Amino acid sequence: MKVIILGADGFCGWPTTLHLSAHGCDVVMVDNLSRRNIDNELEVRSLTPISFMGERIAAWREISGRCLAYHNFDVAKNYKRLLSLIEQEKPEAIVHFAEQRSAPYSMKSPRHKRYTVDNNLNATNNVLCAIVESGLDVHLVHLGTMGVYGYGTAGMQIPEGYLPVKLEVAPGVLVEKEILYPPDPGSIYHMTKTQDALLFYYYNKNDGVRVTDLHQGIVWGTQTAETAVDERLINRFDYDGDYGTVLNRFLMQAAVGHHLTVHGTGGQTRAFIHIQDTVRCIELAIRNPPLSGDRVNILNQQTETHQVRALAEKVRQITGAEIAFVKNPRVEASENALQVANDKFLSLGLNPITLDDGLLTEVTEIAMKYRHRVDLSKIPCTSLWRP
Ligand code: NAD
Repeated sequence: MKVIILGADGFCGWPTTLHLSAHGCDVVMVDNLSRRNIDNELEVRSLTPISFMGERIAAWREISGRCLAYHNFDVAKNYKRLLSLIEQEKPEAIVHFAEQRSAPYSMKSPRHKRYTVDNNLNATNNVLCAIVESGLDVHLVHLGTMGVYGYGTAGMQIPEGYLPVKLEVAPGVLVEKEILYPPDPGSIYHMTKTQDALLFYYYNKNDGVRVTDLHQGIVWGTQTAETAVDERLINRFDYDGDYGTVLNRFLMQAAVGHHLTVHGTGGQTRAFIHIQDTVRCIELAIRNPPLSGDRVNILNQQTETHQVRALAEKVRQITGAEIAFVKNPRVEASENALQVANDKFLSLGLNPITLDDGLLTEVTEIAMKYRHRVDLSKIPCTSLWRP
């Protein structure tokens, strides 16, 4: 199967590229290296020493014997190049990771808000439009986020995309319908993801584009079976206040003797998935595409939910690090419950990795090994939702 991966140099894109290549896919990578440039802008670097793209490709070829094609261009700005790549390669699937993915970064300033909206919405619209213009029946797999639902779910389990509703249109007359689960974005980044969902809905309805939208939880872990084989293939590990996701950030803070920074009361409940399960889920998604005429297939790509305070306590018990409660930079409820359905991936055969599977130790080992690369001044989140 030929697959184009947009955003192939990123935290999820690189391990997915290697996983699909190792499992028999012919992978064509696209990335404009904007994430590496944002590291330059923020004057921070991945905790792990990631190689240049050329070194990554050469190392994978040496180790696996497999070739990876790579194109460096901006998916949001270079529509013609994207269209001709699709026409030339004729992929069966496109996996779309190519968006600015940090909520704090999207809230830094008006410039960051505008960049995130321009980049994310144009990237998504361009790929959908190019699939239609190519005339090819390409399955688009997009990485969305659980965060589009907000976190006030009124005690109910979040379904996989659609909500059955009953409306009494006249006394005693009930109309039943399924609607997209109402979005409730909590940042400009999350707002772009809610708008992506409408673009998918529209191009699917109007043009019959086959789309799978994966609403992913917070990804933890670093390495997958393929990235762990050689240091030149190592995956990126973000720990800074903008891009560091909560569990990896706690484990790295413990490794360098820093307190665990819990925002607010730590009463926020979030959905999680290990990076190894991310790559498995994407393979399951591309091998189980929607049929022609199907509506957008929405799956919740998460395996467990945890309250942030409880996560910090777990890391404290393993590492002995101290917990510090700091002012929450976000505008959000201080406490929330979160229950999420994930029946679709379980029925496709996903056997989830959980926090209790010992992999926390693996991340701690990575954090310990590379702690000399940490800049402690980059740990606090300085982006504010309301300046
Ligand atoms: P990342 O920033 O590490 O990777 C994104 C990649 O896309 C980067 O390499 C970047 O250079 C590239 N890119 C961005 N805009 C581009 C453009 N216009 N043209 C070409 N390339 C472009 O992010 P990630 O953590 O790998 O996340 C990938 C996707 O998964 C994102 O869409 C994100 O919303 C989603 N997601 C991630 C997480 C997580 O915890 N990391 C959780 C939920 C959802």
